[in-house]
Amino acid sequence: MERVFNFGAGPAVLPEAVLEQIRSGFPALPGVGMSVLEISHRSPAFDEILATAEANIRALARVPDDYRILFLQGGATLQFSMVPMNLLPVDGTADYLITGSWAAQAAREAEKFGSVRVAATTEAAGFRRLPTAAEIHVSPTTAYVHATTNNTIAGTQWPTLPAVGDRPLVVDASSDIFSRPIDVAGHGLIYAGAQKNLGPAGVTVVIIRDDLAERGPASLPKLLRYMTYVQGGSRPNTPPVFAVYVVSLVTAWLRDQGGLEAMAAGNERKAAKLYAAIDRTGFYRGVADPDSRSRMNVTFRLATPELEERFAREAEAADLAGLKGHRSVGGLRASIYNAFPEAGVDALTTFMGEFERQHG
Ligand SMILES: *Cc1c(COP(=O)(O)O)cnc(C)c1O
Repeated sequence: MERVFNFGAGPAVLPEAVLEQIRSGFPALPGVGMSVLEISHRSPAFDEILATAEANIRALARVPDDYRILFLQGGATLQFSMVPMNLLPVDGTADYLITGSWAAQAAREAEKFGSVRVAATTEAAGFRRLPTAAEIHVSPTTAYVHATTNNTIAGTQWPTLPAVGDRPLVVDASSDIFSRPIDVAGHGLIYAGAQKNLGPAGVTVVIIRDDLAERGPASLPKLLRYMTYVQGGSRPNTPPVFAVYVVSLVTAWLRDQGGLEAMAAGNERKAAKLYAAIDRTGFYRGVADPDSRSRMNVTFRLATPELEERFAREAEAADLAGLKGHRSVGGLRASIYNAFPEAGVDALTTFMGEFERQHG
């Protein structure tokens, strides 16, 4: 069976070269004689997989020495809880930038653990844009500022990080991690569920500054405290071995493609082609304001929900899968993460032209 172009938002497309590598190392890893699904998480084979994944991430993002790279479970959603549990003191306040429904969920979860301040919100604008610098009011005493670097559902992406002064910036980078160069030192904590840009579902990558990892109170449940993973080398219990293995392969693939600068250039090119196709006539309408547009999730609409439905259906029949927008907002969404091939963007823009000729 031929592979189709997968525009799904997540779990999402993986590099074909990585899929081939998984297949060739299956059912017996070289030098091990067992598949990666069967090895012990305390074996030298997994020691090497974990060390490779970590070293690849450290090199790709030039992670400074005073940051730990951790592999956790529970998805980005568990980080919505772990961040405040570890970093928000009972009498403290945390600032949240509400730029989409994931950001709003993160803030709602934090409210269970302490006081949450909305430092900016674009909800009144339907999350179609990001706040301007003048709209962001960071409290000088906030424990941290939480932001979502790419808003997967609305299709917006911060072009540069919000200015937070000397406060620790905590970001949910689930849908754009390693899609462009990242200044790790400008952050206190970066987290990302792997299933969009890094690998399969089941592992969450956390990059955390040492002093923040130490903040979680010892009274927290063991697996909800960052320090447990720092001390236990990301395996206080059985980690998601297969998912970490795939992250080690995807991060090696990113390096072999030329690293984050090369990724950014490719992503920029793919997104520019797609937005040009959307903007060409009035038939398609981009959802996000042009200044806030995401390079990862390109959201657009047609005149009616019926026409959108038809677009998604006919696209699927033409091997362009997963273009339906998020169920909460409707419309159409093309997710074009790192591993998404440019040929797929070309196929979509061609299809868009044909669909417009038939229905315009
Ligand atoms: C997909 C997504 C999530 C949810 O991730 P899970 O791993 O399913 O918990 C959270 N935040 C953002 C920005 C996302 O894109």
